[in-house]
Amino acid sequence: MEQTLRDRYEVVIGLEVHAQLLTNTKAYSSDVNAYGAAPNTNVSAITLGHPGTLPVMNRKTIDFAIKLGLACGCHIAPLQHFARKNYFYPDLPKGYQITQDTTPICTGGQILIRTEDGTQKSIGLTRIHMEEDAGKSIHDVDVYDTLVDLNRAGTPLLEIVSEPDLRSSSEAYNYLTEVRKLLRYLDICDGNMEEGSMRCDANVSVRLVGAKDFGTKVEVKNMNSIRNVQRAIEFEITRQIEALENGESLTQETRAFDALKGSTISMRTKEAANDYRYFPEPDLPPITVSAVQIEEIAKEMPALPNALFDRYTKTYGLSAYDAYNITDQKGLALYYEELISTTSNYKAAANWLMGEIKSYLNDQGVEISAFPIAAQRIAALIELIDQGKISNSIAAQRVFPALFESQETPLQIAERLNLIQSSDSSVIEAFIATVIEQNPDEVSRYRNGEKQLIGFFMGQLMKVSGGKADPKAANGLLRQKLES
Ligand code: ADP
Ligand code: MG
Repeated sequence: MEQTLRDRYEVVIGLEVHAQLLTNTKAYSSDVNAYGAAPNTNVSAITLGHPGTLPVMNRKTIDFAIKLGLACGCHIAPLQHFARKNYFYPDLPKGYQITQDTTPICTGGQILIRTEDGTQKSIGLTRIHMEEDAGKSIHDVDVYDTLVDLNRAGTPLLEIVSEPDLRSSSEAYNYLTEVRKLLRYLDICDGNMEEGSMRCDANVSVRLVGAKDFGTKVEVKNMNSIRNVQRAIEFEITRQIEALENGESLTQETRAFDALKGSTISMRTKEAANDYRYFPEPDLPPITVSAVQIEEIAKEMPALPNALFDRYTKTYGLSAYDAYNITDQKGLALYYEELISTTSNYKAAANWLMGEIKSYLNDQGVEISAFPIAAQRIAALIELIDQGKISNSIAAQRVFPALFESQETPLQIAERLNLIQSSDSSVIEAFIATVIEQNPDEVSRYRNGEKQLIGFFMGQLMKVSGGKADPKAANGLLRQKLES
């Protein structure tokens, strides 16, 4: 689509995220909550909603919702009710979902995203409420029939609903990245979109720039990665603008994203809220959340990525780029925290983490949690460099690899491999003498004015000394000898 045409429209996006909670048991029963169990093995009569059974609220779900609410600056409702949302679906054995309708646990608050130009933008949250998942219909295992696995039925979910504050697919991408990061930092959801433990419905509309009212929105489902949410939104933007330009009107509907084709197709026109016949859940008493309970949870909150980002940039002087990449994964941030509890060379710690350590992780295809070297040993390595005992490159090329092979300290390794740099002038002078002897032509050229050859001599000196001559001391001595 032509950019000029596209520029005439403003994109409006609101996202609904479902996060499956990492509780041991389900939302309203003691059924095990686990991914990947044999089909229909974690399904009790409560999950099936059999007559005579009663749901019991899982306290953990409430705690997790409060954690997320605190992290996003939400208001937490002191008194809440549950509601039944009724609909028929083969994988919904009860015929209704227990959810929250008029009294969600969290309202207001925001998610901070960083836009492409580095500025921050706050995306408002409408609400976060607790509900339960349905089972799973499996269409692609049996050729003739659809199979149903009810293990997922009753799994606790948080639904996080954003205000229509997002203005581009890349803002939506950044928003989801931040939401997933928070869920992972808080340890309440694994955020795995591929396995469906975090899901996103994208509400997309367009309007002419300057228009007062929002356009008709379309809800897109079925994206199994953040990248695919972005692709689905891009497709919708083009489709909607083209339709409007052709004089068509858009209908409020739900569409499914086809990742192979990169397009969306209509699933159903949107049901109105009253189709669900919401009514208060009669089997669960209302829940209350006290200030004391909130305070207790607040005390246990881990450091969150935005706070860490601020500390790393403002207090430790890291670049925004480094701070963003370190806080991007909780594991990296935790490792960095350990590093800087032993070294105060914050910049070097960041360089080692994002340099040698990150490339090791990439090569091995593992997460930082599987990195075998204790942060204290990396900190000790940094100290060796800072003391001038070894150079950065010797540290990276010789000592770092040796850390994997023994439990020795970096100093012991450097001594054993005979790598300790010498700033002792008699030792360096001996190396210089060798260099001068081996390169008579260059020496006379230098003496005839080609001073830039100093670089060549330093290179030779490092070669002859095996990288062990302290460059600062060596440079001065070398000039002295060449000039004499
Ligand atoms: P529904 O009842 O259809 O789910 P809601 O009003 O609850 O609709 O909104 C659901 C999501 O759609 C929210 O994230 C909201 O921000 C977003 N939304 C609402 N109106 C629009 C719009 N015109 N364009 C894009 N997103 C919208
Ligand atoms: Mg919706």
